[in-house]
Amino acid sequence: MRRLGIDIGGTKTLCVVVDDVDGEARVVEERRVATDAAGDAAAAVVTLARGFDGITSVGLGIAALVTRDGTAVTTTHLPRVRDVPLRAVLSERLGLPVVVDNDGTCATVAEWRLGSARGHDEVLVVTIGTGIGGGTIVGGRVARGTNGFAGEFGHMVVERGGAVCPCGRRGCWETYVSGRGLARIAGAASSEAVLEACARGEESAVRALEEFADWAALGLHNLVNTFDPACIVLGGGLGARSEVVAAITGRFRGVEQSHVGRAMPVIAAATLGERAGAIGAAFVGAGD
Ligand SMILES: [Zn+2]
Repeated sequence: MRRLGIDIGGTKTLCVVVDDVDGEARVVEERRVATDAAGDAAAAVVTLARGFDGITSVGLGIAALVTRDGTAVTTTHLPRVRDVPLRAVLSERLGLPVVVDNDGTCATVAEWRLGSARGHDEVLVVTIGTGIGGGTIVGGRVARGTNGFAGEFGHMVVERGGAVCPCGRRGCWETYVSGRGLARIAGAASSEAVLEACARGEESAVRALEEFADWAALGLHNLVNTFDPACIVLGGGLGARSEVVAAITGRFRGVEQSHVGRAMPVIAAATLGERAGAIGAAFVGAGD
C-alpha cells in the first residue's frame, strides 16, 4: 500500500510515501518543493501526486480549518484556498481515494503511528511554535469533532481579559505559550534570543522560561483533566526543544492538582519534526 502524504506549508510542500516494509509502515520516499502560495493548490497537488509511481491513496495536510468532507474553509497562508472542496476536486482528478485534513491533526496521527506516542491509545499532541496546534487520539481514534475543528487548544482562554490573540479574543493559551508568548514574557526580541540567554545562564531569561512553562503546565493540566491521556507529546519548532520540554515537564509535575490515585501521563518530545504533517497525511489518506 503506497500511501502518499502531502503537507502544504506557507513556504514549502513536503511529500512522503509510506509503504509497508516487512509488515511495518515506513517512509520509503520523500520529496520537497517550494509552495506557490498564490497558485492553484489543487493543481499543484495533482502535479505532485502524478510524479509518484503506484500510489494507492493521497492524504493532504493543510494549515486550515478543514471540514469533515474535506473542504478547506480558511487558511492564512494560501489566499486562494477559501471554501475549496479539495477532497472532491482531487479525488476526481486523480482517480484515487483522497482525504484532506488539518495539519495539526495529521501531525498527531504521525506521532501516534510512527513517533513518540506509538503504542498508546489515549494521546494528546500539543505543538508549540508560532501558535499552538495539535490533536487528540481518543480510544485509538483521532478526534475530529463535529466540524473537523477539534484540537484548537491554543484558543482555550486561560486568562480572562488577558493578552490579545490574533483570533481577536483575549487571554488565549497561545498568547502565553508560543514563540511570541515567550518573547513577550521575557521582553525579548524573539524566543530564540530567550533560549540563548537561558543557555548563558542569564537569570531573567531563566525566570521567563519558567513563567512560560507555568502557563504551559496550566493548560496541559486542563487538557489532562479533559482527556486523561496516557501520553503527551510536545512538538513544534519551540515545543520539541529539549530545554523547553524539560522546563514544561518540571512545572507540570510540580503543579498541585487533583490527580491523586491516578497515574500521570508520560511526556515526550515529538520525534518526527517537520515531516510529521506529511507522514500523518499519508496515514489519514489511507484511512488508517
Ligand atoms: Zn485566540
